[in-house]
Amino acid sequence: MPEENVKVAVRVRPFNSRETTRNAVAIISMPTSQQTEIKDPSNLKAEPKKFAFDFSYWSHDGYTEGADGYLSPKSPKYADQKKVFDDLGLGVLENAWKGYNCSLFAYGQTGSGKSYSMVGYGSNKGIVPLACEELFKGIDQKRKTADKDDDFQVTLSMLEIYNEQVRDLLTTKAPGKGGLKVRQHPSKGFVVETLTTASVGSYAQIENKINEGTRNRTVASTNMNATSSRAHTIVAITFVQKQKNDAGQNMTKTSIINLVDLAGSERADSTGATGDRLKEGSAINQSLSTLGNCIKALADQSMGKKKVMVPFRDSVLTKLLQNALGGNSKTVMIAALSPADINYEETLSTLRFADRAKAIRTSAVINESPTD
Ligand code: ADP
Ligand code: MG
Repeated sequence: MPEENVKVAVRVRPFNSRETTRNAVAIISMPTSQQTEIKDPSNLKAEPKKFAFDFSYWSHDGYTEGADGYLSPKSPKYADQKKVFDDLGLGVLENAWKGYNCSLFAYGQTGSGKSYSMVGYGSNKGIVPLACEELFKGIDQKRKTADKDDDFQVTLSMLEIYNEQVRDLLTTKAPGKGGLKVRQHPSKGFVVETLTTASVGSYAQIENKINEGTRNRTVASTNMNATSSRAHTIVAITFVQKQKNDAGQNMTKTSIINLVDLAGSERADSTGATGDRLKEGSAINQSLSTLGNCIKALADQSMGKKKVMVPFRDSVLTKLLQNALGGNSKTVMIAALSPADINYEETLSTLRFADRAKAIRTSAVINESPTD
């Protein structure tokens, strides 16, 4: 089975108002479209720490804001939403059409720009809506020329992991105590029981469903960012294509596209959280620290250390991401960075996390079988 590395991108955002008010200094630079450097604010004259990624996206400055609020490049260095989608989103779709499972996940501290890249704000649409739009464009195109028996189906699920409990975001019914059950399936890996799967026939329908799911998310405020979610959100799109192959046989190709907006990676103590908020913080960190442990183990494995145990079972998040991380999936990670000196420790830890993720190898297969 051909193996390939997880593709890793980092993206640095503009200063936010908190950083501007505190006269923050930019410590991130990107000398090329792959390299990212970070300076230690306590020693600005020292050599910066250097990292290389598949993509280093400069979205800090060099943009203009259109009348509709869209941030487009004023300098060629600036990476707008379209650039990020063209590099990362289009590839995901291409693979989905071929029948591969795909995963894209966003990592970073609260307020670093995960949701901006994944979902976007206003006219600055992120990878998820742009990918959905493009998917249905492709399907409409195919339908024009397709055989009458050909069939293209898209279904959507959306869930949240909050305090190690799974909640269905496509229903307003309260989940039972302890959340939805996660069980191991003989061939699919870990699956969530009784999760809603909504059939969607157009971009407008999937957009509506995702908006519905977003409204159902648990929003708890912390000092870091009043509107940011403290939960992990997973949007799963299942794309099924039924077509005749060259030999005239009816075949079904299935691709699961997992789009994961992770909770903030910061440690609870740096957000000023106390009491319940602190408990959430530590549960989120249980999932995230398990993710970190899995990535470390997988990286060791890919460097030839054979007998490494990968602790997927230690958290709900890593159970559900097991395929995305070590199995049948083509996987992309985008790590969101604050440019500011005041976030140095968190940003450095994000860069180190992203650096380890580069070593992970997955082996995706085309999910195709005769139609039954
Ligand atoms: P997160 O999801 O990581 O908590 P957000 O994506 O909500 O963070 O981003 C926090 C704020 O920064 C938002 O107001 C968002 O609009 C802004 N922002 C993030 N990334 C960018 C970017 N690349 N360009 C412009 N603004 C951004
Ligand atoms: Mg967010």
